[in-house]
Amino acid sequence: MILYGKDALKKRLDSAAEKGRLPHAIMFSGNEGSGRKIMARYTAQLFICKDKACGKCAACRNIENDSHPDVIFVKKACKNDYSSDSFRSVIRDTSVRPNNGDVKVYIFEEADTMRSDLHNVLLKLVEEPAEYLRFVFTCENPRVIPETILSRVTEFEVPDTPVSDCERFLRDNGLPNASELAEAFAGNIGKCLADKDSADMKRILIAQKAAAAVANRDVFSAAAVLSNTSVSNKEQDNKWQDFSAVMGYLSRILCDALSQKYGEPAEFFGKKESGKIASVFSEKEILNMLDACVELEKNESYHINLPLSAAYFTSRIL
Ligand SMILES: [Zn+2]
Repeated sequence: MILYGKDALKKRLDSAAEKGRLPHAIMFSGNEGSGRKIMARYTAQLFICKDKACGKCAACRNIENDSHPDVIFVKKACKNDYSSDSFRSVIRDTSVRPNNGDVKVYIFEEADTMRSDLHNVLLKLVEEPAEYLRFVFTCENPRVIPETILSRVTEFEVPDTPVSDCERFLRDNGLPNASELAEAFAGNIGKCLADKDSADMKRILIAQKAAAAVANRDVFSAAAVLSNTSVSNKEQDNKWQDFSAVMGYLSRILCDALSQKYGEPAEFFGKKESGKIASVFSEKEILNMLDACVELEKNESYHINLPLSAAYFTSRIL
């Protein structure tokens, strides 16, 4: 299993497994989309694979596909909670010995969203587990989990993935616009995968394309990109919404260009474009474009004729 941007964490886990000291209950804390679930799967491989997560054996492959009988992802009733039923069946199930190997791994995702009465049930499980039981938890905010549980699990922080590693992941998985996506979501692989086809992502890509044309002082390309900003369907209303949103994103890139003029780092997506705009245009010119952008974003009267509005914006580039 390739763990993108998790080298240090992988090293710690590998070395613990090597010495036979992988804790029986592990908590992976980190931001949503940072790769907590991947780390849980990898840890299950470390627990179960005879070769310590070789990635090639049948056990490793089954774990990677979520089809190993001894690696149980405990189901949630809804996004924000586990059900008492799923807990009852877990409790019953823990008394059954592993199917294939020596250990059975239970994975509880988003343990910080559990109800407090379920925390108590969980405490009993991790307190005195049968020798074949292992537990992996993931959460965003460990502070809302009772200390009684936290004191019995070993916490590992899952770092956010660097943008370059995220980009490598997207490329390796054959996703288009890898560098733009990675940058737009600041390296968050989970968000890239969830939102890669969203209308917002498409609008961001259009804004970035327009910014690239602006950076080249290519008025015609910029006008062409901006007069065709529709990403939703053919409905008129959405058309204006798309245009407005693209102008909003473009103004963020221009704001970043201004920041860079003042020696501040860029904050948003399109860093390459905003950097170039900062080097090509004067402060006054950028302000002028930003003005036009905000005007077009906010003012519905400009939405009557998109090519004309696009031309109005590009006229401010010169
Ligand atoms: Zn293996």
